[in-house]
Amino acid sequence: MPDRHPRRQPAVQSAPAGAARRSPGALSNGTGQRTNGQSQTSWRKRRVLLLNTTFEPLTALPLRRAIVLLVCGKAEVVHCDSAGMVLHSASRAIEVPSVIRLSRFVKVPYHSNIPLTRAGLLLRDNYRCVYCGARAETIDHVVPRSRGGTHSWDNCVASCAKCNHRKADKTLSELGWELPVVPRAPRGRHWRLLARLSDADPQWLPYLGKPAA
Ligand SMILES: [Zn+2]
Repeated sequence: MPDRHPRRQPAVQSAPAGAARRSPGALSNGTGQRTNGQSQTSWRKRRVLLLNTTFEPLTALPLRRAIVLLVCGKAEVVHCDSAGMVLHSASRAIEVPSVIRLSRFVKVPYHSNIPLTRAGLLLRDNYRCVYCGARAETIDHVVPRSRGGTHSWDNCVASCAKCNHRKADKTLSELGWELPVVPRAPRGRHWRLLARLSDADPQWLPYLGKPAA
């Protein structure tokens, strides 16, 4: 008797109804609704926190690379996306990860110098202006660059736009201002990661350690 049923694909994980009609790589939320164009764009920029086997944070990967590590069995999911997002391909559906962990330990050389970035500096100073305590959105060079000040962790502080404008190219002694703390480079491997992130999934924070104030 001839087999009238189409040959079944060796599905690793069956996709939910309707998934096959979606284009490969389409995303939906937990209710099966497609995400709109704007959030599709933001999902392409989405990053996944990669941990070593020891749960030490290593880097923030593009979602696509994280999926490849999972599919190849080189990593496992620690936390899925809190909104329950699902990535659909033609033959399978994968829950979008937020935090993944390598299956085998990798030894990473320690670099003590942490790149100075706007995101990292604002985080070091808790997003507060060091001069007035208002919300900071700019970086101020304590010794102005026009006076030979360097663009470094120990000469840069978070500042509100108002204080930054008032300070301009003057020194603190000229203004009679004081710094409440001596600015220093933050310490710890997680700062290399934090310094490159403009925003992190709240699920990452326990693995990134508490940033020094
Ligand atoms: Zn201020």
